Amino acid sequence: MRLLHTEKLELTSFLGEERPKYAILSHTWGDPEDEILLGDVQSGRSRLLACGKPGLPKLLKAAEVARDSGLEYIWIDTCCIDKSSSAELSEAINSMFAWYASSTVCYAYISDFESTDPDLLSNSNRWFTRGWTLQELIAPPVVEFYNKDWVSFGNRESLRSELSSITGIEALVFVWHLPSQCSLALSEEESGCDLCHVDLAEMLDSFSVATRMSWAARRRTTRPEDAAHSLLGLFHVNMPLLYGEGQNAFQRLQHEIIRKSTDQSILTFTVKRDHLMSARFRLGNPLHFLFAGSPSWFEPGLQPPLTDKNFRPGTPILLLSSGIQLEVHIAPCTSHPHFSIAVLSCSSKADALSSPALILWEVSRSTTIRSFKRMWIVPREECPEALVFHVNAGTGIVRGQSLSGEWKMQVKLLLPPHPGLWLVDCKHVR
Ligand SMILES: [Zn+2]
Repeated sequence: MRLLHTEKLELTSFLGEERPKYAILSHTWGDPEDEILLGDVQSGRSRLLACGKPGLPKLLKAAEVARDSGLEYIWIDTCCIDKSSSAELSEAINSMFAWYASSTVCYAYISDFESTDPDLLSNSNRWFTRGWTLQELIAPPVVEFYNKDWVSFGNRESLRSELSSITGIEALVFVWHLPSQCSLALSEEESGCDLCHVDLAEMLDSFSVATRMSWAARRRTTRPEDAAHSLLGLFHVNMPLLYGEGQNAFQRLQHEIIRKSTDQSILTFTVKRDHLMSARFRLGNPLHFLFAGSPSWFEPGLQPPLTDKNFRPGTPILLLSSGIQLEVHIAPCTSHPHFSIAVLSCSSKADALSSPALILWEVSRSTTIRSFKRMWIVPREECPEALVFHVNAGTGIVRGQSLSGEWKMQVKLLLPPHPGLWLVDCKHVR
């Protein structure tokens, strides 16, 4: 990791975990030509100070704030990575979440915010619209917010309610603490309060995959691959970077996530009509529709919010060349006899007894594995005539005994002729 000395404005490389304390900057890029790059710093202090680039004041001010709080080093993405080296860029992107998490303090520079009144912050401020700044908001132990003129107007904890309403991220993400810091943990055995987590990874894992995806749903990245790259840390996964692969990077991210997680909420995205009408759908790369095409498919409001509390871990989702395989409760759908429903191991937030389900079309069956294609149902608001499945305990479709194992079996989801996953109101008796 290359760090900038806050006084000398020189770069030093530190290998491994042995490195000094450092501040870290979170900002949005201007025109890349305007930013201070590695070469500008390497040209020496006097040339750097005379370079006249519009990005210079930002770098100097960030270094000054760090220096004033006693920090000798700062990490700034514009000048601390050699972007001409793809190996270095790949290492940096795979390490970046950890670099933010290991910082002493992160300065969030909201360059288009002129006020110091947090009530005036909004999602029209560019910093809240970008993909990379999501992990920069969540990973550091401390985030201090600065306006356009580098006046501090609060930190992540003091701004938690404003940040939560702008980003849709639950405030506990901003104020979690270690059990040793908890005033409510009365004894060693006490687990403390809802804000207690043993570490950052455990805190993040208390949110379902679908919830974490929804945090990124409205954010944008300049390069399509970065929509996936900027989420590696939030899911504790790594992957090689392939700029040029486009949205396939987001497919690979989801494949990496299912390798590590049994959380079936990754399947609870919603396909909008414009997704289906896209060129990709017409050209037919159906694997894309077994997983979401982008984080925006998890946009809040497209499907009922899922609960993160005590969500039931499912069994692993296996990636096959022909599709995916998972173990779920399968029930016939009596209102539409051609269909089956697969109840996923997660619950709706509004009603813990209500679970999302996939709607399936059976294509073959053996004694142990049933194979289905996933069906597409037009969302209700786009088509009033659309099929809406209401499967509840009262109808007798999914009963308690179906969840005791009788119906539970391996299910193979094959490449769909028409893609689709649709959340249905599926109530069942536990
Ligand atoms: Zn606590």
